[in-house]
Amino acid sequence: MSLLELEDISTRYGDFQALFSVSLSVNAGESFGVIGANGAGKSTLLQTIAGLLESPTGTVRFDGEAVEHLPAHKRVTRGISLVPEGRRVFPSLTVHENLQVGAYGKRKGPWDLDAVYGVFPLLVKLRNKQASFLSGGEQQALAIGRALMSNPRLLLIDEVSLGLAPVVIRHLYEAMADVVSSGMTVILVEQDIAQIMEVADRVCCLLEGRKVIEGERGAISREQITEAYFGTRTG
Ligand code: ATP
Repeated sequence: MSLLELEDISTRYGDFQALFSVSLSVNAGESFGVIGANGAGKSTLLQTIAGLLESPTGTVRFDGEAVEHLPAHKRVTRGISLVPEGRRVFPSLTVHENLQVGAYGKRKGPWDLDAVYGVFPLLVKLRNKQASFLSGGEQQALAIGRALMSNPRLLLIDEVSLGLAPVVIRHLYEAMADVVSSGMTVILVEQDIAQIMEVADRVCCLLEGRKVIEGERGAISREQITEAYFGTRTG
């Protein structure tokens, strides 16, 4: 069953149109990858789903109900949670306090401090450390952990890997695989094609604001993805 359905979504920033008639659906329990080059519209798509932009047209249906008229905070209470690009954590709070803040107004569900520390064991020894002193990878883990604390039904994650070393990215994606296997529905935005193809059940590619390819991970070839990503056609 579809948990999220987007129909004919177009989003503008003033005169500039960033998304053109994007439709897609994501099933409950699925991990869905959105790839695309710089400026393709990936962050815009996540922000549109989260309700952070004013301009979108089209329909956003969550668990069978239209939510496109709801502001972001109301979508959070329905269970849509965004981890924005840039690992935003509260720098002056400790790791533990950041997680506690994530639980504010939380929905009922399996995610609590123990569950988050279970998925991100590196945070345990850092629990009393101020977030501003964490490395980029640690902050990313904390940002995801904080979002999980609200017990979302749909987790939107914008570029887990941005600016991180390969070994750190690998660890984060291992943790993400645990989150996905817990039954969470996740939309992951990435520029790194290889990484997303390991964790996503299905992927779509955006090119200049348009969805150019979509399919199950095993059904799309590397060449098709590369063509879609760069807007090139070989052979
Ligand atoms: P990146 O990987 O660089 O974050 P992206 O695929 O997430 O890229 P978006 O950030 O969604 O792309 O941007 C899509 C387009 O919309 C880009 O051309 C960008 O310049 C433009 N854009 C994004 N935010 C704004 C804004 N606040 N005002 C005007 N244009 C914007």
